[in-house]
Amino acid sequence: MISEHVDVLVIGAGPAGAVAASILQQKGIKLKVIEREHFPRFVIGESLIPRCMDHFDEAGFIDGVEAKGFEKKYGARFLRGDDVCWFDFSQKFSAGWDWTWQLPRAEFDQTLMDILQRRGVAISFGTTVENIVFQGTDSLTTVYDEGGNRSEIHAKFIIDCSGYGRVLPRLLNLDKPSSFQPMAATFVHVEDVRRPQDREGTLITFDVLDQKVWFWVIPFSDGRSSLGLVCPVEHLDAIDQGNPTKTFQHIIRQSEFYSHRFDGLTFLFEPKKIVSYAKAVEKMYGDGFAVAGNSAEFLDPVFSSGVCFATESGAIAAKLAARQVMGETIDWHKAYEEHMAWGVNVFRSYIRDWYSGDLQKFFFHKEVNEDVRRKVCSVLAGYVWDKENPFVKKHDRAVRAVTHLLP
Ligand SMILES: Cc1cc2nc3c(=O)[nH]c(=O)nc-3n(C[C@H](O)[C@H](O)[C@H](O)COP(=O)(O)OP(=O)(O)OC[C@H]3O[C@@H](n4cnc5c(N)ncnc54)[C@H](O)[C@@H]3O)c2cc1C
Repeated sequence: MISEHVDVLVIGAGPAGAVAASILQQKGIKLKVIEREHFPRFVIGESLIPRCMDHFDEAGFIDGVEAKGFEKKYGARFLRGDDVCWFDFSQKFSAGWDWTWQLPRAEFDQTLMDILQRRGVAISFGTTVENIVFQGTDSLTTVYDEGGNRSEIHAKFIIDCSGYGRVLPRLLNLDKPSSFQPMAATFVHVEDVRRPQDREGTLITFDVLDQKVWFWVIPFSDGRSSLGLVCPVEHLDAIDQGNPTKTFQHIIRQSEFYSHRFDGLTFLFEPKKIVSYAKAVEKMYGDGFAVAGNSAEFLDPVFSSGVCFATESGAIAAKLAARQVMGETIDWHKAYEEHMAWGVNVFRSYIRDWYSGDLQKFFFHKEVNEDVRRKVCSVLAGYVWDKENPFVKKHDRAVRAVTHLLP
């Protein structure tokens, strides 16, 4: 059996793994990336938020991604019947990026991997982790390729970025139930041939169909758009029309604003469905490993925080792992777990307040205080570690305190 030695093994080549791998390489760490699929491969998570750009910048990805001409995202629109709420990322409280991208993840993730491969990062596609045995902080990982050939990787540290593969949470029984009600999502891509040829045609929109039911529209620069519905599991069961395509056609007709644009268009694949997608772990690190991105935690798609959490955790885990393999002692609890938990908890509060209706009341109120709007906009842009922002610092009660004063 082939056996190799690396300092850090990265499992999974999504955004968390890509950012982690790039930062490790910049620091001169010997690393390897193991990825189960061949790219391009479909994955959901197409609307980014500006905070991700800090991580892509640090990882040296901006120019390579920019060259692909993905659609730029300058804000987000929320609709509810005739009510419209627009957040412009240039009008936010915190300093930081005021734009990002909305893009098909298959092409985006492939772009990041192409950049890394050009820089000489070792990536094995079509290779799946079978088992990992830890001895102190050292580990021995067994992987197999599509031909069933097994090989071994000895590593001083593992960063698990395996998304819903959840390699280490499964292996080490780290899974923890999410605190949120089980939700479901169904989504598809269309050739957006009736797209308006002005700014309207490019806008990312969250169309609120009911307090806990919303429809997304994410236009891509190549003329396709991503459409999706998020709702409680029982709601999706209740509107089931017998097959995924008919159910999605039914969903499109529920959107007053979008039905004329999308009704009758051919779906580019059969609508996909994910149920009970919220995930959590008991802990994000242990002797010789850290868990990053979706493998650690995923809350809800409503504020597009998933990729940002993936890249923030991938970046920090990589920097800490590099220091550890070079001989430093790291306080993983403080430097990693507490930092990530803070950001997750800020989003958790906003997502709770969204589905309770409080945040929707604020978004769609006609005379919202501009200063408050800028502070909430910072949260939506992903600047959830800026504790100068009272809407970050007091995330647990800030929104409710404001909405309870609204008529
Ligand atoms: C309905 C829905 C909508 C969403 N919309 C958004 C959005 O608009 N914006 C946003 O930011 N986020 C969104 N998300 C979240 C987003 O999909 C994830 O947060 C993001 O993809 C996580 O990135 P990652 O790098 O952690 O994992 P992934 O991107 O999932 O990558 C993990 C990789 O690991 C590989 N892998 C898995 N198991 C193994 C194994 N055993 N061995 C080797 N490799 C393995 C997989 O093949 C995969 O390529 C959404 C999620 C859902 C459910």
